Amino acid sequence: MWAEVSEMILEEATPSTDQELNPWHAAEIRFDEAAERLGLDDGLRKILRSPATEITVHIPVQLDDGRLEVFTGYRVQHSIARGPAKGGIRFAPDVTLDEVRALASWMTWKCAVVNIPFGGAKGGVVCDPSVLSQGELERITRRYTAELIDFIGPERDVPAPDMNTNEQTMAWIMDTYSMHKRSTVTAVVTGKPFQLGGSRGRREATGRGCMIVALQALRKFGLEPNETRVVIQGFGNVGGMAAKLMARAGFKIVCVIEVDGAVYNPHGLDIPALMAHRAETGSILDFKEAENLPREEALYLDCDILLPAAKENVITSHNADRIRAKILCEGANGPTTAAADRILEERKIFVVPDILANAGGVTVSYFEWVQDREGFFWNEQLVNGRLEEIMVNSFRDVVAYAEKHGVNNRTAAYMLALDRVAFAIKLRGIYA
Ligand code: NAD
Repeated sequence: MWAEVSEMILEEATPSTDQELNPWHAAEIRFDEAAERLGLDDGLRKILRSPATEITVHIPVQLDDGRLEVFTGYRVQHSIARGPAKGGIRFAPDVTLDEVRALASWMTWKCAVVNIPFGGAKGGVVCDPSVLSQGELERITRRYTAELIDFIGPERDVPAPDMNTNEQTMAWIMDTYSMHKRSTVTAVVTGKPFQLGGSRGRREATGRGCMIVALQALRKFGLEPNETRVVIQGFGNVGGMAAKLMARAGFKIVCVIEVDGAVYNPHGLDIPALMAHRAETGSILDFKEAENLPREEALYLDCDILLPAAKENVITSHNADRIRAKILCEGANGPTTAAADRILEERKIFVVPDILANAGGVTVSYFEWVQDREGFFWNEQLVNGRLEEIMVNSFRDVVAYAEKHGVNNRTAAYMLALDRVAFAIKLRGIYA
Protein backbone atom coordinates (compact mmCIF):
# COMPACT_ATOMS: atom_id res chain seq x y z
CA MET A 1 0.00 0.00 0.00
CA TRP A 2 2.81 2.41 0.87
CA ALA A 3 4.34 1.89 -2.52
CA GLU A 4 1.06 3.01 -4.13
CA VAL A 5 0.74 6.03 -1.89
CA SER A 6 4.30 6.95 -2.58
CA GLU A 7 3.78 6.62 -6.33
CA MET A 8 0.72 8.88 -6.15
CA ILE A 9 2.58 11.53 -4.22
CA LEU A 10 5.58 11.31 -6.49
CA GLU A 11 3.34 11.67 -9.55
CA GLU A 12 2.11 14.94 -8.06
CA ALA A 13 5.69 15.85 -7.35
CA THR A 14 6.49 16.18 -11.04
CA PRO A 15 5.56 19.84 -11.32
CA SER A 16 6.25 22.66 -13.73
CA THR A 17 9.51 24.47 -13.04
CA ASP A 18 7.69 27.37 -11.33
CA GLN A 19 5.85 24.96 -9.09
CA GLU A 20 8.99 22.95 -8.38
CA LEU A 21 10.79 26.09 -7.23
CA ASN A 22 7.94 27.35 -5.04
CA PRO A 23 9.11 26.53 -1.48
CA TRP A 24 5.55 26.32 -0.14
CA HIS A 25 4.79 23.69 -2.78
CA ALA A 26 7.87 21.73 -1.67
CA ALA A 27 6.78 22.01 1.97
CA GLU A 28 3.29 20.73 1.11
CA ILE A 29 4.62 17.73 -0.82
CA ARG A 30 6.90 16.66 2.03
CA PHE A 31 4.10 17.25 4.56
CA ASP A 32 1.58 15.19 2.54
CA GLU A 33 3.96 12.30 2.11
CA ALA A 34 4.86 12.16 5.82
CA ALA A 35 1.19 12.57 6.89
CA GLU A 36 0.13 9.80 4.53
CA ARG A 37 2.78 7.41 5.75
CA LEU A 38 1.97 8.19 9.38
CA GLY A 39 -1.72 7.64 8.71
CA LEU A 40 -2.34 11.05 10.31
CA ASP A 41 -6.01 11.71 10.93
CA ASP A 42 -7.73 14.10 8.51
CA GLY A 43 -8.53 16.75 11.10
CA LEU A 44 -4.95 16.97 12.36
CA ARG A 45 -3.75 17.04 8.81
CA LYS A 46 -5.95 20.08 8.11
CA ILE A 47 -4.65 21.85 11.22
CA LEU A 48 -1.00 21.21 10.49
CA ARG A 49 -1.02 21.73 6.74
CA SER A 50 -1.76 25.47 6.96
CA PRO A 51 -0.12 28.15 9.09
CA ALA A 52 -2.03 29.18 12.24
CA THR A 53 -1.57 32.94 11.73
CA GLU A 54 -0.37 35.07 8.82
CA ILE A 55 0.22 38.77 9.30
CA THR A 56 0.94 41.24 6.50
CA VAL A 57 1.91 44.81 7.37
CA HIS A 58 2.58 47.81 5.15
CA ILE A 59 5.07 50.00 6.94
CA PRO A 60 5.67 53.65 6.10
CA VAL A 61 9.28 54.70 6.53
CA GLN A 62 10.98 58.02 5.89
CA LEU A 63 14.10 57.61 3.75
CA ASP A 64 17.27 59.64 4.28
CA ASP A 65 16.39 62.00 1.41
CA GLY A 66 13.06 62.87 3.05
CA ARG A 67 10.83 60.73 0.79
CA LEU A 68 8.24 58.42 2.33
CA GLU A 69 8.32 54.79 1.23
CA VAL A 70 5.98 51.95 2.17
CA PHE A 71 7.50 48.49 2.72
CA THR A 72 5.57 45.22 2.97
CA GLY A 73 6.40 42.90 5.84
CA TYR A 74 5.18 39.43 6.77
CA ARG A 75 5.17 37.31 9.89
CA VAL A 76 3.78 33.80 9.62
CA GLN A 77 3.27 31.68 12.74
CA HIS A 78 2.83 28.14 11.53
CA SER A 79 2.28 26.40 14.86
CA ILE A 80 2.39 27.10 18.59
CA ALA A 81 1.37 23.58 19.61
CA ARG A 82 4.68 22.75 21.33
CA GLY A 83 5.62 26.22 22.60
CA PRO A 84 6.13 29.82 21.45
CA ALA A 85 6.58 30.28 17.71
CA LYS A 86 10.25 30.59 16.72
CA GLY A 87 11.94 31.69 13.53
CA GLY A 88 14.06 34.25 11.75
CA ILE A 89 13.30 37.45 9.86
CA ARG A 90 14.78 38.01 6.40
CA PHE A 91 15.13 41.23 4.45
CA ALA A 92 15.24 40.74 0.67
CA PRO A 93 13.70 42.34 -2.43
CA ASP A 94 12.09 39.10 -3.58
CA VAL A 95 10.61 37.77 -0.31
CA THR A 96 7.14 36.31 -0.88
CA LEU A 97 4.40 35.18 1.45
CA ASP A 98 4.73 31.62 0.10
CA GLU A 99 8.42 31.59 0.92
CA VAL A 100 7.76 32.86 4.46
CA ARG A 101 4.98 30.26 4.89
CA ALA A 102 7.31 27.46 3.86
CA LEU A 103 10.10 28.66 6.10
CA ALA A 104 7.66 28.98 9.03
CA SER A 105 6.45 25.40 8.60
CA TRP A 106 10.05 24.15 8.32
CA MET A 107 10.73 25.84 11.67
CA THR A 108 7.86 23.89 13.27
CA TRP A 109 9.28 20.61 11.97
CA LYS A 110 12.88 21.57 12.76
CA CYS A 111 12.11 22.40 16.41
CA ALA A 112 10.18 19.14 16.72
CA VAL A 113 12.98 17.06 15.15
CA VAL A 114 15.48 18.32 17.72
CA ASN A 115 12.75 18.19 20.38
CA ILE A 116 12.98 21.74 21.71
CA PRO A 117 9.81 23.37 23.09
CA PHE A 118 9.04 25.78 20.27
CA GLY A 119 6.60 26.04 17.41
CA GLY A 120 7.54 27.57 14.06
CA ALA A 121 7.42 31.05 12.56
CA LYS A 122 9.21 33.17 9.99
CA GLY A 123 9.18 36.81 8.97
CA GLY A 124 10.23 38.81 5.98
CA VAL A 125 10.36 42.41 4.81
CA VAL A 126 10.39 43.16 1.09
CA CYS A 127 13.33 45.55 0.79
CA ASP A 128 16.78 45.67 -0.73
CA PRO A 129 19.27 46.15 2.12
CA SER A 130 22.11 46.80 -0.35
CA VAL A 131 20.60 50.19 -1.24
CA LEU A 132 19.45 51.16 2.26
CA SER A 133 21.47 53.07 4.87
CA GLN A 134 21.87 51.81 8.45
CA GLY A 135 19.43 54.52 9.56
CA GLU A 136 16.83 53.40 7.00
CA LEU A 137 17.26 49.75 8.01
CA GLU A 138 16.86 50.70 11.66
CA ARG A 139 13.63 52.62 10.95
CA ILE A 140 12.22 49.72 8.88
CA THR A 141 13.09 47.25 11.64
CA ARG A 142 11.61 49.36 14.42
CA ARG A 143 8.36 50.10 12.58
CA TYR A 144 7.98 46.45 11.54
CA THR A 145 8.49 45.45 15.20
CA ALA A 146 5.98 48.05 16.40
CA GLU A 147 3.36 46.69 13.97
CA LEU A 148 3.95 43.17 15.33
CA ILE A 149 4.08 44.18 19.00
CA ASP A 150 0.91 42.28 19.99
CA PHE A 151 2.00 39.12 18.18
CA ILE A 152 5.59 38.64 19.39
CA GLY A 153 7.05 38.14 22.87
CA PRO A 154 9.08 35.61 24.88
CA GLU A 155 5.99 33.44 25.47
CA ARG A 156 4.43 34.11 22.09
CA ASP A 157 6.77 34.37 19.12
CA VAL A 158 10.54 34.84 19.30
CA PRO A 159 12.24 36.19 16.13
CA ALA A 160 15.90 35.66 15.18
CA PRO A 161 18.23 36.72 12.33
CA ASP A 162 18.01 35.26 8.84
CA MET A 163 19.17 36.45 5.41
CA ASN A 164 20.37 40.08 5.58
CA THR A 165 19.47 40.56 9.21
CA ASN A 166 21.98 40.24 12.04
CA GLU A 167 22.78 40.84 15.69
CA GLN A 168 22.26 44.59 15.24
CA THR A 169 18.77 44.03 13.77
CA MET A 170 17.94 41.88 16.81
CA ALA A 171 19.20 44.60 19.17
CA TRP A 172 16.82 47.12 17.50
CA ILE A 173 13.88 44.69 17.78
CA MET A 174 14.69 44.01 21.44
CA ASP A 175 14.91 47.72 22.18
CA THR A 176 11.68 48.62 20.33
CA TYR A 177 9.76 45.83 22.07
CA SER A 178 11.24 46.81 25.45
CA MET A 179 10.31 50.50 24.98
CA HIS A 180 6.68 49.49 24.35
CA LYS A 181 6.65 47.13 27.35
CA ARG A 182 8.38 49.66 29.62
CA SER A 183 11.01 47.12 30.71
CA THR A 184 13.99 45.38 29.15
CA VAL A 185 12.82 42.09 27.63
CA THR A 186 15.89 40.35 26.26
CA ALA A 187 14.12 37.01 25.61
CA VAL A 188 11.90 38.53 22.86
CA VAL A 189 14.57 37.73 20.23
CA THR A 190 17.58 35.43 19.91
CA GLY A 191 20.78 35.95 17.95
CA LYS A 192 21.40 39.18 19.90
CA PRO A 193 24.82 40.64 20.62
CA PHE A 194 26.45 38.87 23.53
CA GLN A 195 26.45 42.12 25.54
CA LEU A 196 22.62 42.27 25.36
CA GLY A 197 21.83 38.72 26.44
CA GLY A 198 23.08 36.77 23.41
CA SER A 199 24.48 33.29 23.92
CA ARG A 200 28.06 32.12 23.66
CA GLY A 201 28.39 29.86 20.63
CA ARG A 202 25.27 31.16 18.79
CA ARG A 203 27.25 32.60 15.88
CA GLU A 204 28.92 29.25 15.12
CA ALA A 205 25.95 27.07 16.10
CA THR A 206 24.46 26.25 12.69
CA GLY A 207 27.84 25.42 11.13
CA ARG A 208 28.81 23.45 14.23
CA GLY A 209 25.55 21.48 14.03
CA CYS A 210 26.30 20.68 10.36
CA MET A 211 29.73 19.39 11.34
CA ILE A 212 28.29 17.22 14.13
CA VAL A 213 25.74 15.51 11.86
CA ALA A 214 28.33 15.17 9.06
CA LEU A 215 30.57 13.28 11.51
CA GLN A 216 27.66 10.99 12.39
CA ALA A 217 26.88 10.39 8.71
CA LEU A 218 30.52 9.52 8.01
CA ARG A 219 30.36 6.69 10.52
CA LYS A 220 27.65 5.10 8.37
CA PHE A 221 30.22 4.91 5.56
CA GLY A 222 33.11 3.82 7.78
CA LEU A 223 35.02 6.96 6.78
CA GLU A 224 37.33 9.11 8.91
CA PRO A 225 37.25 12.92 8.52
CA ASN A 226 40.81 13.05 7.13
CA GLU A 227 39.89 10.75 4.24
CA THR A 228 36.81 12.81 3.42
CA ARG A 229 36.53 15.35 0.59
CA VAL A 230 34.01 18.11 1.27
CA VAL A 231 32.49 20.65 -1.14
CA ILE A 232 30.77 23.64 0.48
CA GLN A 233 28.46 26.02 -1.36
CA GLY A 234 28.15 29.42 0.33
CA PHE A 235 30.91 30.88 2.50
CA GLY A 236 28.67 32.98 4.78
CA ASN A 237 27.55 32.38 8.32
CA VAL A 238 26.62 28.70 7.92
CA GLY A 239 29.06 27.63 5.17
CA GLY A 240 31.99 29.66 6.49
CA MET A 241 31.61 28.38 10.05
CA ALA A 242 31.05 24.80 8.87
CA ALA A 243 34.18 25.05 6.70
CA LYS A 244 36.27 26.43 9.55
CA LEU A 245 35.09 23.87 12.13
CA MET A 246 35.21 20.92 9.73
CA ALA A 247 38.72 21.81 8.59
CA ARG A 248 39.73 22.04 12.24
CA ALA A 249 38.22 18.57 12.82
CA GLY A 250 40.41 17.18 10.02
CA PHE A 251 37.98 17.15 7.06
CA LYS A 252 39.52 17.99 3.70
CA ILE A 253 37.55 20.95 2.33
CA VAL A 254 38.44 20.55 -1.34
CA CYS A 255 36.14 23.20 -2.79
CA VAL A 256 34.28 26.33 -1.69
CA ILE A 257 31.66 27.81 -4.02
CA GLU A 258 30.52 31.43 -3.89
CA VAL A 259 28.37 33.67 -6.13
CA ASP A 260 31.27 34.68 -8.34
CA GLY A 261 32.86 31.23 -8.70
CA ALA A 262 34.61 28.42 -6.83
CA VAL A 263 38.10 27.57 -5.60
CA TYR A 264 39.34 23.99 -5.70
CA ASN A 265 42.30 22.13 -4.25
CA PRO A 266 42.11 18.30 -4.20
CA HIS A 267 44.48 18.22 -1.20
CA GLY A 268 42.27 20.52 0.88
CA LEU A 269 41.98 24.30 1.20
CA ASP A 270 43.52 26.28 4.05
CA ILE A 271 40.21 27.72 5.34
CA PRO A 272 41.49 30.43 7.74
CA ALA A 273 43.80 31.65 4.93
CA LEU A 274 40.87 31.62 2.47
CA MET A 275 38.84 33.73 4.90
CA ALA A 276 41.71 36.19 5.21
CA HIS A 277 42.07 36.25 1.39
CA ARG A 278 38.37 37.08 0.97
CA ALA A 279 38.53 39.77 3.66
CA GLU A 280 41.48 41.32 1.81
CA THR A 281 40.30 41.02 -1.81
CA GLY A 282 36.52 40.85 -1.48
CA SER A 283 36.38 37.46 -3.25
CA ILE A 284 37.42 33.84 -2.66
CA LEU A 285 38.74 33.64 -6.25
CA ASP A 286 42.45 33.66 -7.19
CA PHE A 287 43.39 32.04 -3.90
CA LYS A 288 46.96 30.71 -3.68
CA GLU A 289 47.37 26.97 -4.24
CA ALA A 290 43.86 26.65 -5.60
CA GLU A 291 42.27 26.48 -9.02
CA ASN A 292 39.34 28.76 -9.94
CA LEU A 293 36.28 26.86 -11.20
CA PRO A 294 32.90 28.00 -12.55
CA ARG A 295 30.36 27.66 -9.73
CA GLU A 296 28.01 25.24 -11.60
CA GLU A 297 30.82 22.84 -12.42
CA ALA A 298 32.00 22.82 -8.81
CA LEU A 299 28.64 21.60 -7.54
CA TYR A 300 29.10 18.39 -9.53
CA LEU A 301 32.61 17.53 -8.27
CA ASP A 302 33.23 13.98 -7.12
CA CYS A 303 33.27 14.23 -3.31
CA ASP A 304 32.19 12.52 -0.09
CA ILE A 305 30.15 15.36 1.39
CA LEU A 306 28.34 18.15 -0.43
CA LEU A 307 27.20 20.89 1.96
CA PRO A 308 24.91 23.44 0.28
CA ALA A 309 24.83 26.45 2.62
CA ALA A 310 23.75 29.32 0.39
CA LYS A 311 20.11 29.35 -0.65
CA GLU A 312 17.07 27.30 -1.64
CA ASN A 313 16.44 25.36 -4.88
CA VAL A 314 20.06 24.51 -5.69
CA ILE A 315 19.45 20.82 -6.40
CA THR A 316 16.45 20.35 -8.68
CA SER A 317 15.02 17.74 -11.05
CA HIS A 318 17.30 19.29 -13.70
CA ASN A 319 20.64 18.63 -11.99
CA ALA A 320 20.11 16.02 -9.22
CA ASP A 321 21.46 13.29 -11.50
CA ARG A 322 24.78 15.17 -11.73
CA ILE A 323 25.48 15.32 -7.98
CA ARG A 324 28.42 13.00 -7.22
CA ALA A 325 28.51 13.19 -3.41
CA LYS A 326 27.98 10.21 -1.10
CA ILE A 327 26.44 12.44 1.58
CA LEU A 328 24.34 15.57 1.08
CA CYS A 329 24.33 17.60 4.29
CA GLU A 330 21.82 20.46 3.89
CA GLY A 331 23.11 23.55 5.67
CA ALA A 332 20.72 25.86 3.79
CA ASN A 333 16.96 25.79 4.14
CA GLY A 334 15.27 24.07 1.19
CA PRO A 335 18.35 23.57 -1.05
CA THR A 336 16.74 20.48 -2.61
CA THR A 337 13.38 20.51 -4.38
CA ALA A 338 10.82 17.78 -3.75
CA ALA A 339 11.22 16.50 -7.31
CA ALA A 340 14.98 16.16 -6.78
CA ASP A 341 14.44 14.08 -3.63
CA ARG A 342 13.27 11.16 -5.72
CA ILE A 343 16.38 11.25 -7.93
CA LEU A 344 18.73 11.45 -4.96
CA GLU A 345 16.95 8.52 -3.34
CA GLU A 346 17.23 6.40 -6.49
CA ARG A 347 20.91 7.24 -6.62
CA LYS A 348 21.28 6.20 -2.95
CA ILE A 349 22.76 9.51 -1.85
CA PHE A 350 22.61 9.74 1.94
CA VAL A 351 20.72 12.97 2.69
CA VAL A 352 20.91 14.72 6.04
CA PRO A 353 17.83 16.92 5.54
CA ASP A 354 17.79 20.64 6.31
CA ILE A 355 15.33 20.35 9.20
CA LEU A 356 17.94 18.20 10.96
CA ALA A 357 21.28 19.37 9.50
CA ASN A 358 20.87 23.10 10.12
CA ALA A 359 18.95 22.82 13.41
CA GLY A 360 22.05 23.76 15.44
CA GLY A 361 21.16 27.45 15.08
CA VAL A 362 17.69 27.20 16.55
CA THR A 363 18.96 24.84 19.23
CA VAL A 364 21.42 27.43 20.54
CA SER A 365 18.68 30.07 20.10
CA TYR A 366 16.67 27.94 22.51
CA PHE A 367 19.65 27.97 24.90
CA GLU A 368 19.79 31.77 24.54
CA TRP A 369 16.08 32.11 25.38
CA VAL A 370 16.54 29.85 28.44
CA GLN A 371 19.57 31.86 29.62
CA ASP A 372 17.75 35.20 29.14
CA ARG A 373 14.78 33.98 31.15
CA GLU A 374 17.03 32.66 33.90
CA GLY A 375 19.31 35.69 33.79
CA PHE A 376 22.19 33.26 34.17
CA PHE A 377 24.65 32.64 31.35
CA TRP A 378 26.53 29.52 30.33
CA ASN A 379 30.11 29.22 29.15
CA GLU A 380 30.88 28.15 25.58
CA GLN A 381 31.89 24.64 26.58
CA LEU A 382 28.50 24.02 28.17
CA VAL A 383 26.66 25.45 25.13
CA ASN A 384 28.67 23.34 22.68
CA GLY A 385 28.38 20.19 24.78
CA ARG A 386 24.59 20.50 25.03
CA LEU A 387 24.35 21.28 21.31
CA GLU A 388 26.36 18.19 20.46
CA GLU A 389 24.17 15.99 22.63
CA ILE A 390 20.98 17.24 20.96
CA MET A 391 22.36 16.97 17.40
CA VAL A 392 23.76 13.47 17.91
CA ASN A 393 20.52 12.22 19.51
CA SER A 394 18.39 13.81 16.78
CA PHE A 395 20.52 12.28 14.02
CA ARG A 396 20.20 8.88 15.70
CA ASP A 397 16.39 9.32 16.06
CA VAL A 398 15.91 10.27 12.40
CA VAL A 399 18.09 7.48 11.02
CA ALA A 400 16.44 4.90 13.31
CA TYR A 401 13.01 6.15 12.18
CA ALA A 402 14.06 5.86 8.53
CA GLU A 403 15.30 2.30 9.04
CA LYS A 404 12.22 1.27 11.01
CA HIS A 405 9.74 2.64 8.46
CA GLY A 406 11.76 1.95 5.32
CA VAL A 407 11.75 5.58 4.19
CA ASN A 408 14.47 8.08 3.28
CA ASN A 409 15.93 10.39 5.94
CA ARG A 410 13.92 13.42 4.85
CA THR A 411 10.60 11.62 5.06
CA ALA A 412 11.68 10.12 8.39
CA ALA A 413 12.53 13.56 9.79
CA TYR A 414 9.14 14.91 8.69
CA MET A 415 7.31 11.88 10.09
CA LEU A 416 9.09 12.15 13.43
CA ALA A 417 8.33 15.88 13.61
CA LEU A 418 4.68 15.56 12.54
CA ASP A 419 4.16 12.78 15.04
CA ARG A 420 5.52 14.94 17.88
CA VAL A 421 3.50 18.03 16.92
CA ALA A 422 0.31 16.01 16.32
CA PHE A 423 0.73 14.33 19.71
CA ALA A 424 0.99 17.75 21.41
CA ILE A 425 -2.20 18.91 19.69
CA LYS A 426 -4.04 15.75 20.72
CA LEU A 427 -2.95 16.20 24.34
CA ARG A 428 -3.96 19.87 24.39
CA GLY A 429 -7.27 19.24 22.62
CA ILE A 430 -9.08 21.79 20.50
CA TYR A 431 -10.27 24.87 22.36
CA ALA A 432 -13.76 25.89 21.29
P1 NAD B 1 24.79 34.28 4.54
O1 NAD B 1 24.18 35.38 3.78
O2 NAD B 1 25.66 34.57 5.72
O3 NAD B 1 25.65 33.32 3.57
C1 NAD B 1 25.20 32.86 2.36
C2 NAD B 1 26.40 32.85 1.39
O4 NAD B 1 26.01 32.19 0.20
C3 NAD B 1 26.87 34.25 1.01
O5 NAD B 1 28.26 34.34 1.20
C4 NAD B 1 26.48 34.37 -0.47
O6 NAD B 1 27.37 35.16 -1.22
C5 NAD B 1 26.53 32.92 -0.91
N1 NAD B 1 25.70 32.63 -2.10
C6 NAD B 1 24.52 33.15 -2.45
N2 NAD B 1 24.10 32.62 -3.61
C7 NAD B 1 25.04 31.74 -4.00
C8 NAD B 1 25.19 30.87 -5.11
N3 NAD B 1 24.28 30.83 -6.07
N4 NAD B 1 26.28 30.10 -5.19
C9 NAD B 1 27.22 30.14 -4.22
N5 NAD B 1 27.14 30.94 -3.14
C10 NAD B 1 26.07 31.73 -3.03
O7 NAD B 1 23.55 33.34 4.97
P2 NAD B 1 23.56 32.19 6.06
O8 NAD B 1 23.05 32.72 7.34
O9 NAD B 1 24.85 31.46 6.02
O10 NAD B 1 22.38 31.25 5.48
C11 NAD B 1 22.59 30.39 4.39
C12 NAD B 1 21.43 29.41 4.33
O11 NAD B 1 21.34 28.71 5.58
C13 NAD B 1 20.05 30.02 4.11
O12 NAD B 1 19.26 29.09 3.40
C14 NAD B 1 19.50 30.14 5.54
O13 NAD B 1 18.07 30.22 5.58
C15 NAD B 1 20.03 28.86 6.13
N6 NAD B 1 20.13 28.82 7.58
C16 NAD B 1 20.86 29.76 8.26
C17 NAD B 1 20.97 29.67 9.65
C18 NAD B 1 21.82 30.62 10.44
O14 NAD B 1 21.95 30.43 11.67
N7 NAD B 1 22.43 31.62 9.82
C19 NAD B 1 20.27 28.66 10.35
C20 NAD B 1 19.55 27.72 9.62
C21 NAD B 1 19.49 27.81 8.25
